[in-house]
Amino acid sequence: MTDRVAIVGAGLTGALLATMLGRRGYDVVVYERRPDPRHAGSERGRSINLAISTRGLTALRQVDLEDAVLARALLMRGRMIHDVAGGQEFQSYSADGEFGINSISRGELNAVLLDAAEELPNVALRFEHRLTSFDADACTMSFAGPAGSVEDSADAVIGADGAFSVVRRALQAHDGFDFSQDYLSHSYKELSIPPVDGDFALDPGALHIWPRGASMMIALPNLDRSFTATLFWPRKGPGSFEDIDTPEKARRYFDDNYPDASELMPDLEEDYRLNPIGSLLTVRCAPWNRGRVALIGDAAHAICPFYGQGANAGFEDCIELVSQLDLHAGSWQPALARYAEIRKPQGDAIADLALHNFIEMRDSVSSPGYQVVHKTEQILHRALGDRYKTRYEMVSFSTTPYAEIEPTVRRQRTVAGALAAAAVAAIAAVGVAAARR
Ligand SMILES: Cc1cc2nc3c(=O)[nH]c(=O)nc-3n(C[C@H](O)[C@H](O)[C@H](O)COP(=O)(O)OP(=O)(O)OC[C@H]3O[C@@H](n4cnc5c(N)ncnc54)[C@H](O)[C@@H]3O)c2cc1C
Repeated sequence: MTDRVAIVGAGLTGALLATMLGRRGYDVVVYERRPDPRHAGSERGRSINLAISTRGLTALRQVDLEDAVLARALLMRGRMIHDVAGGQEFQSYSADGEFGINSISRGELNAVLLDAAEELPNVALRFEHRLTSFDADACTMSFAGPAGSVEDSADAVIGADGAFSVVRRALQAHDGFDFSQDYLSHSYKELSIPPVDGDFALDPGALHIWPRGASMMIALPNLDRSFTATLFWPRKGPGSFEDIDTPEKARRYFDDNYPDASELMPDLEEDYRLNPIGSLLTVRCAPWNRGRVALIGDAAHAICPFYGQGANAGFEDCIELVSQLDLHAGSWQPALARYAEIRKPQGDAIADLALHNFIEMRDSVSSPGYQVVHKTEQILHRALGDRYKTRYEMVSFSTTPYAEIEPTVRRQRTVAGALAAAAVAAIAAVGVAAARR
């Protein structure tokens, strides 16, 4: 008999995994606490768009959805840095300027994934069903549904229920489960930059950044020619959400700190007043599996969004989980154990990389020193090809395991340092020889 799998959460990773498992012939039921987002629309100011890069596209390709997603996305080939005086500088993401990351609406991406899952006769989507309790050993679940309480059980349960996962909470009740949750000192708020005369107000081929030392704003383009801007501000202190607590103060702050953007934001006061402030947190836990239960996506590794990798990493989880099932001939326990063993270090590594990139985005990118390093790295990449890749390229434009990136960066820098020293020594030797002649 075919195994029945319950996935809790029909967000990005849950919806993709449903399609991957459905295509392998499993009976899949997906429970989601919210109404169907394809009809309900998105919540105001909640992560309107996001960037999908090589890792996410690799997963989408496996279910033939890469083209459908790219058709709804806008390619951003680099960062556009905005200084306080309104000056702009473009920094290409890759040495040849060829690679980019893809801005897509979260709602559109979720809809593509849900449509693909729903097309399969062996996948059922149950919206407005909130998991309320879960027995991880028996794989039995209780949901609060529109018509009251619903009980279900499955051969395997996958927790794709996000950063505040109820499935994870059930695992936490068992001895030996490690868990930590760290809130960042910064939160986020989304705002809108509408089109000007029907066209994009800024270059749509770039991810725009207004780095301001302790904080920053970014903006990503949307297909309707608007941009969604996101403030990453401290929660407390000068220039914080607590400090700038009225729409009027926000406008003044924008005029002083982001004057070029302020001109393009007629709805700033209303957006600032109505849009929620979202928290940013890193969740680490282990093990990601117990018997026939496993966690994927943010439920296993909620990370800060500064590398644009949360969903990309969740999609890589899906690839690993199904490939382990294939390798273990559908035997859940060893497959989920191996999946968790392989992916946990990757979740930890991208969490650290994301925190590191926050400092780079809000501060370093605008310093002259950073610009020299950035250009030098691109020259090295052009000279040495795949033997020298930047950290950004490895994260965004490769499927190199996240945990291998930092050691590779260190190794490359040692080699580059040695090459530079050898070049300097050779030039000095030529100089000495010339002087003796
Ligand atoms: C501001 C911001 C910008 C971001 N930008 C990027 C980016 O550019 N690129 C990128 O790759 N990632 C980005 N991310 C991260 C990305 O949004 C997440 O990593 C991704 O959404 C995780 O998908 P998920 O399916 O694991 O979890 P979620 O998207 O959180 O989905 C979980 C689902 O489970 C449901 N659920 C929760 N509890 C229950 C329950 N008890 N019962 C039933 N259902 C439940 C929820 O309603 C939800 O639909 C960003 C995040 C933020 C906050």
